Amino acid sequence: MTQQPRPQPGYANPLQAPGTDEGHWRAWDGWDKLPDLELPASGRVVAVAAHPDDEVLGAGGTLAVLAARGVSITVVCVTDAERSHTDGEDREDGGAAGRRRADGLRESLRELGAGSADIVRLAVPGSEVAFREDEVIAALDPLMRGAALCLAPWIGDVDGDHEAAGRAALAATRTASVRCLMYPVSMWHWARPDDPRVPWSSALRVRLPDTALARKKAAVERLTGRIGAPGPARQDTAGPLPGEIAHHLRRIEVVFA
Ligand SMILES: [Zn+2]
Repeated sequence: MTQQPRPQPGYANPLQAPGTDEGHWRAWDGWDKLPDLELPASGRVVAVAAHPDDEVLGAGGTLAVLAARGVSITVVCVTDAERSHTDGEDREDGGAAGRRRADGLRESLRELGAGSADIVRLAVPGSEVAFREDEVIAALDPLMRGAALCLAPWIGDVDGDHEAAGRAALAATRTASVRCLMYPVSMWHWARPDDPRVPWSSALRVRLPDTALARKKAAVERLTGRIGAPGPARQDTAGPLPGEIAHHLRRIEVVFA
């Protein structure tokens, strides 16, 4: 059971409240205490994303490292949703922007050096992953067979779609006896370094070499360029906001075992 963050005054949804400044995270002295994750050197890795680009934000540098090693990558995009992590709401706009994000997935992967990755789109409607978990598990099951590793959204990320996609990936990887590591995306926004809800004892870090970090920055730039042409209303700013993007441009990525 995920414990929900306490709402900040005036904000019913913690994802809408002002987030933790990246300066707090950069100043944290806990980074050095996290063990390094040993990444596979061959085989196939399945990266599950609840929304297009989750995998770039949460694990893009890790994917760049894997791609550079020649590891095959399968990206499973559970929804095509146009979704703002900070708004916590899906928008009904005919789905055009969502399709743009999903179509742009290939561009982001190319920036990561993973342009040849297989992309599987499950097209579950945004915000509905939790209601269709069984369907997602069934779709993931055959993809997990023989995989060397699965990277999936963290089941405590306080985003319904992230958590449900993570649970589905956990179930499918258990059946296939594949290791599943979960990457946070929204956590960097709502948590602080000393937040007791963050399971630091199971955290592993991936220190990104310069090349992987540069690739991730290019991929993030690509996705913010793609989704960063907002309409007249605040809610038209799709995807993560600049302050949130800063969390995803660090030299270290974190996954929970
Ligand atoms: Zn997401």
